[in-house]
Amino acid sequence: MSIYSLLDRHILIPIGDRIKGRDLHGAYAETLGTEWLSEDELLQLQNGKLQKLVRHCYENVPYYRRVFEERNLTPADIQTRADLVKLPVLTKQLIREHYDELISKDASGRKYLEGSTGGSTGTPMRYLDDVQTWNKLRGLAFRGWLWAGFHVGEKMFTLAGNSLVKKNAGAKKMLMKGMFDRFIMRNEKHDCTDITPEALDSYYHALMKRRPAAIRGYASSLYFLARHIEQNYLPVCSVKAVFTTGEKLHPAYRRKIQQVFRAPVFDAYGAADGGISAHECYMHEGLHIGEEHCIVEIVDGNGRLLPDGEVGHVVSTDLNNYVFPFLRYQVGDLAYIKKEPCSCGRKHRLLGEVIGREGRAIYNKQGRPYSSIVIDNMMFKDMDFHTLECQRLYEKMDRFQIRQDKEGDLSILIKPVDPDEPLATFDYVRENFQAHFPGSKVEILFVDEIPPLPSGKEDYCVSEYTPCE
Ligand SMILES: [Zn+2]
Repeated sequence: MSIYSLLDRHILIPIGDRIKGRDLHGAYAETLGTEWLSEDELLQLQNGKLQKLVRHCYENVPYYRRVFEERNLTPADIQTRADLVKLPVLTKQLIREHYDELISKDASGRKYLEGSTGGSTGTPMRYLDDVQTWNKLRGLAFRGWLWAGFHVGEKMFTLAGNSLVKKNAGAKKMLMKGMFDRFIMRNEKHDCTDITPEALDSYYHALMKRRPAAIRGYASSLYFLARHIEQNYLPVCSVKAVFTTGEKLHPAYRRKIQQVFRAPVFDAYGAADGGISAHECYMHEGLHIGEEHCIVEIVDGNGRLLPDGEVGHVVSTDLNNYVFPFLRYQVGDLAYIKKEPCSCGRKHRLLGEVIGREGRAIYNKQGRPYSSIVIDNMMFKDMDFHTLECQRLYEKMDRFQIRQDKEGDLSILIKPVDPDEPLATFDYVRENFQAHFPGSKVEILFVDEIPPLPSGKEDYCVSEYTPCE
């Protein structure tokens, strides 16, 4: 560990905490202390925190008081995470409708931040983020970075959109945030919305000047940067790790990023709304859920618990937000929990693939959902990029996007690497989709560009089709 990291952890972070009334130092130490808890100890910790939170909700939050009374429940009925199914799922729609009722009566005596979810995930939603949730999510991130050998206080370079690179706060807030990023996080952030060759070149030069210990950002942004570096035969500085977050990490993206930066990729998943966070460890078998701070359930469309291994809606209970409590909050992503524990020995359950925003999953007319992995299989025949055939196909396709209209018909937009590539090269894509989408029209279209969303995130799948349940 560098001297700056030691100074950061034991002096700068505590000073920042004093100024801002936060407890990053304590949260970091706490997550390190619970890293190796046994399964029973983790459950005991979770259940204790859950019981306290439920009592608080019943006594102080009008929305939950009503929900409990309508179901003839009292806090004594919710003792363990298995009891949570007695409560309904909290959707973004319900939050919009009952915003005022969800604020705790004692919120004015607590410290919180105003939060909102962006337009890339549907209609924006407002909520309040308890400063304790803010602290703990960062504590978990620091621990996740440590699994990659990166200590907070070492230099970081970030390339991401508006969820990680804030631009719109007031001058004083931006100054404080700038100081925090510069001296405590030592994180140089770049907005990735622009991915033209000129912009990629400027990110590259900034990266080389920065010479960070780790790179962080949206999977697609880092993939485009890696590809730019490779195509232009540019040298790269050595880094310990690359951290991806904010969107689905396609296996092809992981492979390219690792190959170009010559460093392992560690994926992470999280959302401040719902206080959920999961990080990949050095075994790369899945993403460890930060179970000290949130309870994650995977449920079907009716809020019923699904067994491990089955894909469903991610529902999170934030154990630290007492200002605007999230009990069984439907985050808006599809994922599954792995049946097997991680071979690193940590008992925090693993999220398998996070399939991504629900809006991006596509369904055929028979109601079968298709995850991104299956879509990748259909686009590239199989996901084994070590096969020459697969690599050749991949090198012919610059980018793609699948669009499904209200009728369930599919347009697959492909930007070919070679503008003279015959359309017939991708006949197999149409055949694959046609076989899985009986009754839907499937067409392949060549396009010059697929623009990213205003958030800077890439949407490989846009669907307006509502599946029959
Ligand atoms: Zn592990």
